[in-house]
Amino acid sequence: MSELPRFNAYVNGQWITPSDGRYFETVNPYTAKVWAEVARCTPDDANRAVEAAHAALTTGPWASMTATQRGALVHKLGDLIRDNARELAEYEVRDNGKLLNEMLAQCNYLPQWFYYYGGLADKIEGAVIPIDKPDIFNFTRHEPIGVVAAITPWNSPLLLLSFKLAPALAAGCTLVIKPSEFTSTSTLKLMELVEQAGFPPGVVNVVTGFGAEAGAALVEHPKVAKVAFTGGTESGAYVYQQAAKTLKRCTLELGGKSPNIVFDDAVLDDAVKGAISGIFAATGQTCIAGSRLLVQDGIYDEFVKRLVEFAKSARMGNPMDTSTQVGPVTTPPQYEKILKYIEVAKSEGAEVLLGGGPASGPECGDSKLFVQPTIFGGVHNKMRIAQEEVFGPVLSIIRFKTDEEAVEIANDIAFGLAAGVWTQSIKRALKVSAAIRAGTIWVNTYRAISYLSPFGGYKMSGLGRENGIEGMREYLQTKSVWISTAADVPNPFVMR
Ligand code: NDP
Repeated sequence: MSELPRFNAYVNGQWITPSDGRYFETVNPYTAKVWAEVARCTPDDANRAVEAAHAALTTGPWASMTATQRGALVHKLGDLIRDNARELAEYEVRDNGKLLNEMLAQCNYLPQWFYYYGGLADKIEGAVIPIDKPDIFNFTRHEPIGVVAAITPWNSPLLLLSFKLAPALAAGCTLVIKPSEFTSTSTLKLMELVEQAGFPPGVVNVVTGFGAEAGAALVEHPKVAKVAFTGGTESGAYVYQQAAKTLKRCTLELGGKSPNIVFDDAVLDDAVKGAISGIFAATGQTCIAGSRLLVQDGIYDEFVKRLVEFAKSARMGNPMDTSTQVGPVTTPPQYEKILKYIEVAKSEGAEVLLGGGPASGPECGDSKLFVQPTIFGGVHNKMRIAQEEVFGPVLSIIRFKTDEEAVEIANDIAFGLAAGVWTQSIKRALKVSAAIRAGTIWVNTYRAISYLSPFGGYKMSGLGRENGIEGMREYLQTKSVWISTAADVPNPFVMR
């Protein structure tokens, strides 16, 4: 019997062992040690979780709770997350190797999602429609969409889960969550808080395990009404196809290859920091990475010089150490993928300005998952390194001459998640922001996110929006109720 901590799945308010008794190991990317075992849920376990979520949706205390009562529970969960933020962040770091600084900032911010949507729960009002028939009273209700399958990736497990969990609960939905196999434990720790907050059994469930097993079973289950997915574009497109078989609603938050554009009137040192935060924060493992840096001709040489100098000073090391700036990559497959792209870029003729390979040294501990912060110059937009998502600390710099050319390059890609614009001209900022086909544009800042502002992709970066009031609507459906006040039922052979 293993000595490692074991994490079970959470179904119908119970901690359950997987039906075939199998567990998988979870590895700390920095220490390279297996530190826990997690339930490998089967499709049967996923089906059981959906049945529990469906029962909680249709019968029992959750189904009869008022929106105000629901909102209060969601708010209470926010308080519990606030009180346990550090512990949650440490679980995330052990699983994904991202910086404690980053995960702690995220976990400290999470309660705001629960306060905002908890407050919104009882403010979603239907309308009385001034219907064009004198003997009909017509009104609308916004009802919960049903059971939600929330499927999350490994890079920011609890942040990306909160984008889904808080509005879904506030809307009155129930959920089955499937975290990434690489980062299950923080989501399971969160379930302890769900329990403490007093959510009835079955309202929130977690099945851990593999996408093709537990995840696929959720996407196929006829009693799941909606899939809220964050992950890669390829998996997202596959999930969308599978979900279509039972006409599920889908929100898909997918990959990106976001342009970060530096114009010649930008404050260069600010833009350097913006470029760094766009690609080296979180070791580049963020969907919103500003991985295509477009730099205007007149400032190109000076800007690139300052950028490389700054990037050189990035401190790699133990992610638990608060002075570390760049940690390991989270998973071995991701590490291999990043190195492969570095080779692709070299073979395409891109010029290595910094890094360009694996990193080793005492600062990397026992981890074999460090990649040097890497900058490629001389990239043009047709290269694979400019078009495909690397999801690592690899920056491609593209030179441009005019504003029109910058916009053309920015839009000449399948993705459309985000973009950065660095300029002191408000006219230019507005014009370029309007012209770029992406869901989020940052001007003179990068990587800012809030529970208040809608987030999502254009083009292959996704469908639907998370956060803000739009994020709540994705968990509601509208019902129109018609009440006759007529003295009798008119001619039944004619439409009213
Ligand atoms: P994946 O797409 O591989 O996986 C995401 C989740 O989907 C995981 O829980 C995975 O399970 C699950 N999954 C995979 N296949 C299926 C399936 N057939 N049915 C149901 N579930 C499935 O992404 P990663 O975890 O590798 O995350 C990295 C990707 O996520 C990057 O491409 C990044 O751009 C994107 N991302 C997008 C964000 C956004 O908001 N737009 C934010 C963060 C990341 P398992 O891993 O256990 O197999």
